[in-house]
Amino acid sequence: MVRFAVAIALSSGVFFSLASRLLRRKPLPPSPAPLDWRSFTEFLYEGLKWVWRYDSSGHVVTIVPLCPVCFYQVDLRSDARPDSSTYYGLRDVTIFWCDHFKEVKRQLDGNFHEITIRVHKEINRLYDTHEWENIVRQQMTSRSQNRAPQ
Ligand SMILES: [Zn+2]
Repeated sequence: MVRFAVAIALSSGVFFSLASRLLRRKPLPPSPAPLDWRSFTEFLYEGLKWVWRYDSSGHVVTIVPLCPVCFYQVDLRSDARPDSSTYYGLRDVTIFWCDHFKEVKRQLDGNFHEITIRVHKEINRLYDTHEWENIVRQQMTSRSQNRAPQ
């Protein structure tokens, strides 16, 4: 008899929580329109803004570094730094110069080809994790805010 009462109490408890869940259910907000992955053409990485295009097969081509502040295309200078761990005692670095501000924006390890491979890998990682969608939505938001009248 006690067991029976517990069963009723349990089942009525389940019923009420189900009912209240059903009553609380609200219509889902409209999901945002799907994005075209080809709209992902720029991002910030290693302190620089990187932009690229897609060829007709959808491959990333022409990766170009821009100044993250003024968006001028930065000039590149190849250089080397002492590094006792390498055979020649030097390692390649690339210096990114903004001609608008007349200042070095960044110095990254590797020659420019090696750096663009790293950038390309990061672009692929952002595709795989779908993080590119957040980046594109943020860019769309900041663009529409910039267009708004002051
Ligand atoms: Zn600049």
